[in-house]
Amino acid sequence: MLAITLTACGTTNQNFITGENQRGAYSWQQERELGAQADQQIIAQFGLYTEDPELTAYVERVAQNVLETSAYTDPSTPAEVRSTPFVFRILDSPVVNAFALPGGFMYVTRGLLTYLENEAQLAVVLGHEIGHVLGRHSSEQAARAQLNQFGLIGAAVLGGVVGGGNVAQGILEYGSTGLQLLQLKWGRGAEREADMAGVAYAEFAGYDAAEAARFFRALDRLSAQSGGGSIPNFMSTHPDPAEREQTIPQLANSDPRYQGEMINAEEYLRQIEGVVVGEDPRQGYVEDGAFYHPELRFRFDVPRGWQTQNSPMAFVMGEPNGQALIQLTLASQSSAEAAARELASQQGVQVGRGGATTVNGNRAYRLDGAAQQQNGTIGFVATFIEYGGNVYQILGLTAQNALQQYGGTFVDVSESFSRLTDQRYLNRQPSRLEVTRAPGGATISSLLRGRTLPSGLTEEEVAIMNQVELNQPIPTGQRVKLPE
Ligand SMILES: [Zn+2]
Repeated sequence: MLAITLTACGTTNQNFITGENQRGAYSWQQERELGAQADQQIIAQFGLYTEDPELTAYVERVAQNVLETSAYTDPSTPAEVRSTPFVFRILDSPVVNAFALPGGFMYVTRGLLTYLENEAQLAVVLGHEIGHVLGRHSSEQAARAQLNQFGLIGAAVLGGVVGGGNVAQGILEYGSTGLQLLQLKWGRGAEREADMAGVAYAEFAGYDAAEAARFFRALDRLSAQSGGGSIPNFMSTHPDPAEREQTIPQLANSDPRYQGEMINAEEYLRQIEGVVVGEDPRQGYVEDGAFYHPELRFRFDVPRGWQTQNSPMAFVMGEPNGQALIQLTLASQSSAEAAARELASQQGVQVGRGGATTVNGNRAYRLDGAAQQQNGTIGFVATFIEYGGNVYQILGLTAQNALQQYGGTFVDVSESFSRLTDQRYLNRQPSRLEVTRAPGGATISSLLRGRTLPSGLTEEEVAIMNQVELNQPIPTGQRVKLPE
């Protein structure tokens, strides 16, 4: 379907890996613009991992080395591409993922970095993403779909919600959906081309690319142990890791010019020591039926049984059957009333009741009403609360005919918003990666005894992180990665 659409456009562009023309709708300049826009949305949604500038500089250095040996510097690649600065970022997410946007924007998560064992593996992952950019594997449709998805996250929350159905689930999952749309459409051919490019570029940069096979084995185990919806993006959007475990070493041995020997495990482990592992509670966490935000110093109740998802842009709670959701965001206006007025002025919004109030001593404004959508009418209750120099918006949404049922919950949640003073919750710190040498006879299982794992991380995952089995004896003195 994709191919037909693009053929109909009658346009081609150059694949910089092969140098040949292929179906493609965008000029390099357009790809760059699309990438730059989506880049801002990616940063807003995930946040950058900024607390370790040395690690950021290190990843950039490895990436630049690989880039220098790639088609990026080939004389047959147009000068406008060769002069485009490519961007490599570490995202502040525990999800194991790496991806690329058109125009030279590439990302690895801090979660992915903890699952790599050495610089050679990192070089292949980065080379793979460089391959997607230079192979111009984006398409007009994929890029548009991607931008629309992220558009949903923006200020017009109402625009992203369809009447009835599984409303909350859609919102809870759409963070990953945006990324999946981008990469799923690249297809197996594009993934194989990116793998070939990744291996070649890493080898030319001097790395032993066959090392990456162990990482794909780790991904395969990670995929097997996390069921259904929690499968990290990197696996759901890439070829079968088990297959790549076979093909990567084959590729690495396929060309006599591939003589890279560099692995650099010591340096890599030194660089990632101290990186945050798992969710970072300083950015908010759910515990004992409430959401706590230690840095912004507030808490509020989470309705019993509701699903939650936290990101730098929004904290979302979904009713278990997807019949309603509540979203906490920051409003950009300087007062609760101004923020309420802005919501009321949005197209298709009809306000019912509205007025000033206070929530636990904080100035607030609440209004309810309905919003016309393509697929029906949504009922909402919005509460704006001035607190700590910010205006918080707590927006409850459901189908209009269910507002009677959920309206009380929407109000209750907003009424529970209060100052966080309990030191137990305020002082919560994230878990960090410790790199240590294994004593004789140790296993990951024995090394984890007496340690508290960060929320969401299992013992098996720590073993996978180390690319060993949970009860496999580790050679004495071998370095292991453990959450502190
Ligand atoms: Zn890929």
